[in-house]
Amino acid sequence: MSPAQVIKTTCAYCGVGCGLLATVSAQGTVTIAGDPAHPANYGRLCAKGAALGDTLGHDGRLREPSSAGRVVSWDHALTRVAREFNAVIAEHGPDAVAFYVSGQLSTEDYYVANKLMKGYIGSANIDTNSRLCMASSVAAHKRAFGEDVVPGVYADLELADLVVLVGSNLAWCHPVLQQRLLAARAEHGTRIVVIDPRATATSVDADLHLPLAGGSDVALFNGLLRHVLASAACDRDYVARHTCDSAATAAVTADFDVATVCRITGLERTDVEQFYAWFATNPRTVTVYSQGVNQSRAGTDKVNAIINCHLATGRVGRPGAGPFSVTGQPNAMGGREVGGMATTLAAHLEFDQAHARELVQSFWHSPRMAPAPGLTAVDMFEAVADGRIKALWIMATNPLVSLPQTSTVAAALRRCPFVVVSDISSDSVTTQMADVLLPAAGWGEKDGTVTNSERRISRQRRLVAAPGAAQPDWWIICEVARRMGHGSGFAYAGAAAILREYAALTACGNGGTRALDLGALAQLDAGAYATLAPLQWPVADGAAASADRRLFGDGRFATADGRARFVATPYRGPAASADSD
Ligand code: SF4
Repeated sequence: MSPAQVIKTTCAYCGVGCGLLATVSAQGTVTIAGDPAHPANYGRLCAKGAALGDTLGHDGRLREPSSAGRVVSWDHALTRVAREFNAVIAEHGPDAVAFYVSGQLSTEDYYVANKLMKGYIGSANIDTNSRLCMASSVAAHKRAFGEDVVPGVYADLELADLVVLVGSNLAWCHPVLQQRLLAARAEHGTRIVVIDPRATATSVDADLHLPLAGGSDVALFNGLLRHVLASAACDRDYVARHTCDSAATAAVTADFDVATVCRITGLERTDVEQFYAWFATNPRTVTVYSQGVNQSRAGTDKVNAIINCHLATGRVGRPGAGPFSVTGQPNAMGGREVGGMATTLAAHLEFDQAHARELVQSFWHSPRMAPAPGLTAVDMFEAVADGRIKALWIMATNPLVSLPQTSTVAAALRRCPFVVVSDISSDSVTTQMADVLLPAAGWGEKDGTVTNSERRISRQRRLVAAPGAAQPDWWIICEVARRMGHGSGFAYAGAAAILREYAALTACGNGGTRALDLGALAQLDAGAYATLAPLQWPVADGAAASADRRLFGDGRFATADGRARFVATPYRGPAASADSD
């Protein structure tokens, strides 16, 4: 009997991206421990990560492809998918098809799905369930920094003297970060402020809990900006040298005195004043925000209102200081990076940037590039419902549970002439809607990479064999692409080859214009991919990976003039927000 093997891999549950040591016994059982060497968790685990071995069982797994409810061969299923998609495209054009993908996919899966839709089908109708949890942060980062970049690193939560958690139940949703924060507090007394309408497992540990009225965050942070700009905390030299639009933004905050903030938020005056005083007097402040901020009609403004306060104090990308978006899914960040959203092109290249389309088209040897952004998640399902989209491929997600207005989504899927679902589960409410079902390999059955909330890329490694005929998503996508007539663009020998190509795209025409640069990985051979240690981007060609890499700490941002942008965020109440967005 062969001895147990210990394999380094990455947790598949949340965006903290903890490193794991998976011990695979000779019988194929898997036990999980934290990887002491992984910089996300240094050996820590939460209950979810510790139980990951239990998810590798085969109960309820989709094992064989099926078409019209009948088990078929891979060739039959893939050929039917390719044929139906090509037929719809030929008759109705590229925008009559769509992919709805997931933050559960690996970066390699995401990359080829995006390439097929935007570079070969010629539509940008690919969007992700990650949009629901963090698209607001993406948009706000682009508005403020010029690029979708999280400037900080997890160690900043330990270096900070004040950590402000906005719309974030860290104790439940990012438990290892909560562990790191509480350990730091035990050492040097970090103050914790929780801004959340609810009392949560996180607010229990707060020095100050601000249970503001739902949707009033912008008013609270506009008031904070007004307070900071009038105090010694304002770094006027930084604002003058490294930012734009501060005056126009300040004008919008002029009315947000503490009394007004209290009236809008429902908070006690003493609590608001305490929060403002702590923020002003602690240069080492990190503001963490997640779904409570992002999942809002005013989510983008909420994020910019937070970032404005950090720009006013020069606290961006510095040790122990910065705005910090934490993502929910294990690879929400990887999807953002490759371009797995309808509103971006690829690799942090944007539709509205001069020459970006030409650059990507040339790099991909694309026969037909998407000309403009496509339909985002909710709009995509509306287009399915009203018949504009006639073929839909859902990958690794269950929109009949996770999208808003699920009865509308169900009606849309019932109406859609052709629905493909690739999944690991045999019997979800979404798989029941599929014309073709494709069995996908799970997180511990394939090789790939994921990116966590601090820009750290880590390997997920195959631990056990996939059940039945299940295959990695990237393989399924490439096989469909081949049968659609695009074989030359999708002839990858494996996941390593996909990562190499993606890394080369991030470096293509970059020259320091985009922070996302993985050029150092563009020559990664199979052996180096197999042993790849966690690393943070950017890692330009020739650059050595560094330990904790912050961005924008020198005051240079990813905008054309190198300056960050203040963004005026007029307060709109929840009803007004809903009407106007
Ligand atoms: Fe997994 Fe997140 Fe828990 Fe870490 S904190 S072990 S990534 S679920």
